[in-house]
Amino acid sequence: MRHLLLLLALITGWSAPLAAAPAHRPVAASLPSQRVDLARWGAEHGLAGHTASHGDEFQLANRSTQFSFKIDSTKLSADGTEIRLAYPVVHAGEHYWISQRDVESTLGPLLSPPKRPAARPIRLVAVNAGHGGKDPGNLDGRRLEKSYTILLAGEVRRALERAGLRVLMIRQGDTFVDLDERAAAANRAKADLYVSLHFNCMPGESVREVRGVETYCLTPAGLSSTNDNGNHGGSWQPGNRFDRDNIVLARQIHHAVVDGTDLDDRGVRRARFKELTLLDMPGVLLEGGYMTNPGDSRNIYSPEGRTKLARSIVDGILAYKRLVERGTAE
Ligand SMILES: [Zn+2]
Repeated sequence: MRHLLLLLALITGWSAPLAAAPAHRPVAASLPSQRVDLARWGAEHGLAGHTASHGDEFQLANRSTQFSFKIDSTKLSADGTEIRLAYPVVHAGEHYWISQRDVESTLGPLLSPPKRPAARPIRLVAVNAGHGGKDPGNLDGRRLEKSYTILLAGEVRRALERAGLRVLMIRQGDTFVDLDERAAAANRAKADLYVSLHFNCMPGESVREVRGVETYCLTPAGLSSTNDNGNHGGSWQPGNRFDRDNIVLARQIHHAVVDGTDLDDRGVRRARFKELTLLDMPGVLLEGGYMTNPGDSRNIYSPEGRTKLARSIVDGILAYKRLVERGTAE
């Protein structure tokens, strides 16, 4: 598509879409007009602000929460866990600015997580082993992603059941299930949460050092997905009803996995993965390390490594459950 546009531009002199390409846009200009003064927002929410790392970082903190914003970057560290914002935080004049949408979709829910009605505790978790049947997922030599996601899903199931939760396995064996049907099965069963399990891959010898865990939740409407280079847009999806829960669930699972395994922190990210768009409940998709990285793959391919990862995922689910079930609903 990009090549076609370039060709069209060369032939006709038509250049508007290229001029608007985010890669050529200065960072400050990429922040939308609806922006919020971080220090002021912090003060209104009981968080003290200060500049750190020679002005490269702005921090907001109270006794239980610390947000560190990297200037000119979309990287937010929330109590030590990386979360990707939709827009970079910028420093202009005396102020640090963040987009209003990032405040609504990330800072707000993390600071004041939603509460579940007391009558609806979390009981049933849908566990999706990525790929299966004719869809092998990523390949690392003769190793297939689908073989390891089903093994991890089994471990997650056992750990959830030990914790007293019920589990819906979206696929049981080496079977192919459409992405729409995966979400539909969770919806039919009225699952309370949905967790999709995958492993990542970076083909090519030179990038074998790329490693770590990524936890994805659905991109809010109108915003850019993390791996989409700031191309803001995208319509509302049914899964967006749970935006506030999605980011809190993703954050809890990601934090527990970074804490409980050797996996590097590649951040909570946003994407419009088909299965997440269709859910009637909060959901995340976890990429539990890179099959192409020697360190990550040792854990992915070993029962001990998978057990550790599964226990951490379940620790995160239980932390989310405690957080949203506290007290009665507002
Ligand atoms: Zn996958």
